[in-house]
Amino acid sequence: TKAKQPKPEWIKIKMTNDSNYQEIKSMMRSKTLHTVCEEARCPNIYECWANRTATFMILGDICTRACRFCAVNTGMPTELDLQEPDRVAEAAENMGLQHCVITSVARDDLKDGGANIFAETIRAVRKRLPLCSVEVLIPDFMGDIDSLKIVMDAKPDILNHNIETVERMSDRVRARAKYPRSMELLRNSKILQPSIPTKSSIMLGVGEEWDEILKTMDDLRAMDCDIMTIGQYLQPSPKHLDVAKYYTPDEFAILKEEGLKRGFSHVESGPLVRSSYHAHEQVQSASKS
Ligand code: SF4
Ligand code: SF4
Repeated sequence: TKAKQPKPEWIKIKMTNDSNYQEIKSMMRSKTLHTVCEEARCPNIYECWANRTATFMILGDICTRACRFCAVNTGMPTELDLQEPDRVAEAAENMGLQHCVITSVARDDLKDGGANIFAETIRAVRKRLPLCSVEVLIPDFMGDIDSLKIVMDAKPDILNHNIETVERMSDRVRARAKYPRSMELLRNSKILQPSIPTKSSIMLGVGEEWDEILKTMDDLRAMDCDIMTIGQYLQPSPKHLDVAKYYTPDEFAILKEEGLKRGFSHVESGPLVRSSYHAHEQVQSASKS
């Protein structure tokens, strides 16, 4: 077997025992809410939670898909929880969030893919926190445009859908998702609500080539996508996809320039960048553009 790539020194998690972090952690437990920060073992969790930023994961913590890079559990999803939108809004209010990211597992078992709960969560947060910007990071709803419309009608501040990887690697890395279908979703959200900025994310190090990364940027721009985030794939467990390559901070910096050259209003690019990292700054730059 191939020798594993050693983890470079720039992939380090900043440990802290900040009291904000502890406070948010116990609040999440008491409200039985899930965050991606925890479920996906995000390396920025201490920094983000200390800064009172978090990404809520609605519609349960069990996904109907099993992507090869993802640490979320797969299986029979939990029953729909109609009180969830309110609990998310209440937690967002307690945290005094200025920017709230809402995402979910893929609920291929539901007819609307969970779109109505997304819309209700957006409305519930708006009601409690009128000044808080709301970003949704949605699954592909199996390409169902009616589901997408339900979410767009609730007018999120940012519509985020991750392309995750380059076209050639897509079927190997993502479960049931399709590169063209994800591109189509980004295009459709612009058709439905042209003024709502769209955003997408790619993780590097699953076996893609440099030129393919640039091609993915071009494809996203062709869908009029406004914001891009680029981060390093980290293997969540030995059962998950191996890391094929660790990109250097310099390479991430070059990619940021490549993205800006192509007309993205904001590109967040770095080894530990995740979809929701520094998301608050992205709303500001998107609304300026
Ligand atoms: Fe949570 Fe996103 Fe921050 Fe990671 S980058 S800790 S998922 S808010
Ligand atoms: Fe993870 Fe894939 Fe499910 Fe998203 S669809 S939560 S990436 S397994």
